[in-house]
Amino acid sequence: MLPFARISIIGLGLLGSSIARAVREAMPNAALSGYDSDSETRETARALGLVDDISDTPGAAVTDADLVILCVPVGAMGAVAVSIAADLPAEALISDVGSSKANVLAALTAALPNHAIIPAHPVAGTERSGPEAGFASLFHNRWCILTPPEGSDAAKVAQLQAFWEKLGANVEVMEAEHHDLVLAITSHLPHLIAYTIVGTASDLESVTQSEVIKYSAGGFRDFTRIAASDPTMWRDVFLTNKDAVLEMLQRFSEDLTALQRAIRWGDGDALFNLFTRTRAVRRSIIEQGQDDERPDFGRADH
Ligand code: NAP
Repeated sequence: MLPFARISIIGLGLLGSSIARAVREAMPNAALSGYDSDSETRETARALGLVDDISDTPGAAVTDADLVILCVPVGAMGAVAVSIAADLPAEALISDVGSSKANVLAALTAALPNHAIIPAHPVAGTERSGPEAGFASLFHNRWCILTPPEGSDAAKVAQLQAFWEKLGANVEVMEAEHHDLVLAITSHLPHLIAYTIVGTASDLESVTQSEVIKYSAGGFRDFTRIAASDPTMWRDVFLTNKDAVLEMLQRFSEDLTALQRAIRWGDGDALFNLFTRTRAVRRSIIEQGQDDERPDFGRADH
């Protein structure tokens, strides 16, 4: 049996179009409808045949849905929820894929106080955006974190879990606040650091832009990949997960200062011990199948 029969996707960019493709593969009998605020994206989605029916208004895309997934930047979630409220069937489950969760849960609850809401975050993505960037296997063997509010119907949580498992994801359930803290260190801070390093390099006056590009060794190149991530999406992530990011940033700054001191005083042991510990973290990530040892991280075909 299908976890959901009529799925509506609002926002047909990287995440929305990947869900559409994955549903087509894993649940070919599910009816799919969709909407995007960008008319060009709607045209592309139509041409690609991403969903059965693309609507020209958000409300029309949800009228008979049993699952609605909001795949828009986190700062737009509340407004989108307001725009579908009048057309949403009473029994429809509302979810999303936003990268921060407490703020999204609050925005969705305020807009749709009488609906079942179970936020979700598939920890899977690339630095690309738009409907053409999506692919069906994006969620394979990736974690999807569900953050049901207290008092959620366990049967609905199980239904959403079954949906994500059908798309190939492993599902974990946790509180929205805990999600935001964990993701602040594993995803949000690394993006902030990448944006900073690439920004600093491009501001340097004594090193030319062409030298930065010409001599970009592995380290810098990997940072530029992360720093190419969507500006709207990441602006919203930092503005909505402000407290957790600032807390992690404080800890990071203290650790950076300690490293600065180790370099200044020639404390090679401190450097060596840290680098040994961090190498073991990398090994665990590969052993748990969350990345791949090839130098391009196996991403060359996307
Ligand atoms: P994306 O490729 O830019 O797609 C977002 C789409 O939503 C765009 O087509 C955008 O149109 C549209 N949109 C914006 N505001 C809208 C509105 N009010 N109503 C309807 N459509 C609207 O971004 P994405 O990477 O798929 O990200 C979508 C969500 O997934 C974000 O919340 C992000 O935090 C989360 N996420 C992303 C990743 C990742 O790696 N990219 C991973 C996990 C979760 P315009 O282009 O006109 O703005």
